[in-house]
Amino acid sequence: MKEFDLIAAFFKKRARRRQDVVLGIGDDAAAVIPPLGQAVMISTDTLNAGTHFLTTHSAESIGHRAIAVNLSDMAAMGAEPAWVTLSLSLPHVDSTWLSGFCDGFFSLLDEYQISLVGGDITQGPFSMTVTILGVAPPSLLLKRVGAAVGDYIYVTGTLGKASYALQDTTQPASERLSRVSARVKEGISLRGIASAAIDISDGLAQDLSHLLQCNQVGAEITLTQLPLADAPKIQLSEEASWQLALTGGDDYELCFTVPPDRVMLLETAAREWTCKVTRIGRIIATSALRCLRGDGTLLALTQLGYQHFNSEG
Ligand code: ADP
Ligand code: MG
Repeated sequence: MKEFDLIAAFFKKRARRRQDVVLGIGDDAAAVIPPLGQAVMISTDTLNAGTHFLTTHSAESIGHRAIAVNLSDMAAMGAEPAWVTLSLSLPHVDSTWLSGFCDGFFSLLDEYQISLVGGDITQGPFSMTVTILGVAPPSLLLKRVGAAVGDYIYVTGTLGKASYALQDTTQPASERLSRVSARVKEGISLRGIASAAIDISDGLAQDLSHLLQCNQVGAEITLTQLPLADAPKIQLSEEASWQLALTGGDDYELCFTVPPDRVMLLETAAREWTCKVTRIGRIIATSALRCLRGDGTLLALTQLGYQHFNSEG
């Protein structure tokens, strides 16, 4: 199949056309009209074979993940995702794989009513890049900056899902690509409530540390309050579960701060959420991330979280 036939067969045919898309797939660039007065938020993420997914993972789960990780960034900004582009680099064309990929890819786009408006398809190393565009009122963006001493720290959902699954060697590696459920609706409902927010992609400790650094503050986390994911089939000590929940990547939950006088607003908003929300600690003035055990002693982290470019060569 030629490039244009591939685009037509797999992408153009299945791309939903939102009303605000003036030009979609087929021209030299796409054109969209954002709602009047709203900011357009833009984010991009690349998944490389061998690093972010394995070639043994199902095509459908890879397609799903390509969108889900980008949705998580929109969620962390309180943005409503609207349009995406997809740049796909494939070593060779495999229609069965592409078809499975599109099933996962379009299932999430359709769920969130997002339009695929363009992209690129090339022969090369197995890799994909999705750029996502979303909209939000400019005065209500959720940013990393904004947390103040005394604000409470919360996380959505549970922590450690992906890293616990990686420990579970009773499962084949190909089945251990966890399903990311992006907290898009939750992010939007945090507009005007959260003082700062970040999505947890590289582990709570590392991502929360980014947020703390942006605000030149620290945090005290109560370990016994961490919403740990179930770790089926594997036995982990409490200490090991904490370490993995704090430093394992791929949770794609939201971590955010709320000033004490807005806690009631959060509780009201969270009643509509499909995931739980847990208060795990508080912002402190000392620039450190202090993780406290039940007995008040400090847990030392064995590592901060997932690091790109941290190996030699
Ligand atoms: P150009 O040569 O001008 O870059 P292409 O031939 O690469 O254009 O692509 C033709 C059209 O198909 C463009 O509108 C482009 O955005 C779209 N397109 C290409 N690949 C994809 C893809 N993987 N998914 C969605 N749209 C794509
Ligand atoms: Mg091109």
